[in-house]
Amino acid sequence: MVFGFGKSKSGGSRRDYDSSEEFEIESILFQGALNGKEVDLRANAKLAQAGLVPAKELISDALARRADMIRLDPKGRVAAVTLYVDGVPFPGSRMPAQQALAITQMLKLLAGLDIRDRQNAQAGGIVTDYKETPYHLLINTSPLKAGGERLVVRPRNQQVQLETPDDLGFSEDLRVRIRELTSHRRGVVLVCGPPNSGVTTLSFAVIRSIDAYLYSIYSLADFGGRSITHISQAERVEGETFDRQLARAIRSDADVIIVEPLHEEDRLKIVFDDATKVCIVAEYKAPDAGNCITQLRDTLGAEIVSDRLAMVLSQKLIRLLCDECKQAYRPNPRLLQKVGLPPETKVLYRPPQPIEGEEPDECYKCGSIGYFGRTGVIQAIEVNDSIKELIKSGADASALKNQARREGMQSFQSDGLRLVAEGKTSLEELQRAFKA
Ligand SMILES: [Zn+2]
Repeated sequence: MVFGFGKSKSGGSRRDYDSSEEFEIESILFQGALNGKEVDLRANAKLAQAGLVPAKELISDALARRADMIRLDPKGRVAAVTLYVDGVPFPGSRMPAQQALAITQMLKLLAGLDIRDRQNAQAGGIVTDYKETPYHLLINTSPLKAGGERLVVRPRNQQVQLETPDDLGFSEDLRVRIRELTSHRRGVVLVCGPPNSGVTTLSFAVIRSIDAYLYSIYSLADFGGRSITHISQAERVEGETFDRQLARAIRSDADVIIVEPLHEEDRLKIVFDDATKVCIVAEYKAPDAGNCITQLRDTLGAEIVSDRLAMVLSQKLIRLLCDECKQAYRPNPRLLQKVGLPPETKVLYRPPQPIEGEEPDECYKCGSIGYFGRTGVIQAIEVNDSIKELIKSGADASALKNQARREGMQSFQSDGLRLVAEGKTSLEELQRAFKA
């Protein structure tokens, strides 16, 4: 299958083999280090000469292919590029290790990092512009045992952020439940997931599901500069402790308060203490909703958790089929039964299937990957009477998840199949996302 990342391309540049202008890649503009450090290219003229153009080409080419992560791994005398599109890795070009070194050092310099230090991991970022769209390039370097450094670049489009319930494919049902549960000035709604699963994005979508015209929502959290309309940002008082800050927000008539991720046990206790006076929304580190509940019970005790936890949500990101090239097919009845889709399902979709002996059609939109963009598959456990009983009886995470599913609450499986039935994603993609 052609994935649009040909192995014949060398050095991340297309100029070598294609002289026609339409293939000319628009170049990225580096505009400064995110940490505000002055970048002196003149003092590093030699490095700039060796590294600036290849760095530009590597990043511009990756952005043209919609990469959300670029990895450059030196191994001996060569270095391999891996591009991640919608979270899935594709092998990119190879280049001499010397060139990879120049690119890595150049990007470190542009990110205001220490180019003399190659023994320690470093992190920074570069403000850039690509085709008149602002991107932040997050730069991470880490030393490798065999020598050299691995470079990881994460471009973040500053205009597009997946954060509304619509972006995340919230079902209407789920929105209604969130609105209901956050309307009683009581209870904790937690959003959890493993690192890099888009937890903050999910909590944005939860907050946006709340009717901000009917309820007053306060935020004690700093969302890294992202702002949400209709939400009052509680002012910070120098030296004020978390419990006092929370008490002040409750006094000022908040219905719902959003707090910073609950990593520390004492904050977790404060939040559950105050959840009799206000509804609190926060992030919490747990692999999924079932495990979140059992972890909380271990920390706070079954009584408090069953009394005050209102709902736990968790998500996984899956890729959406490309509208331009997805193909309809008639699923066979045995398959439908096996995966749990209704037998009357007439049509499902998947990426174009390769036909032997035929050149596959190129898709201009997705680069012939078959997928374009991502959405969330969401699991929600609402703490109703039967879940409360299970919490008190010491049930484990899978018993909690099973009960939730039996009662028709949204599970990863049910939500994923809904997206398959709607033609938004494929069964293959669901399988891939949940196997990983
Ligand atoms: Zn396509």
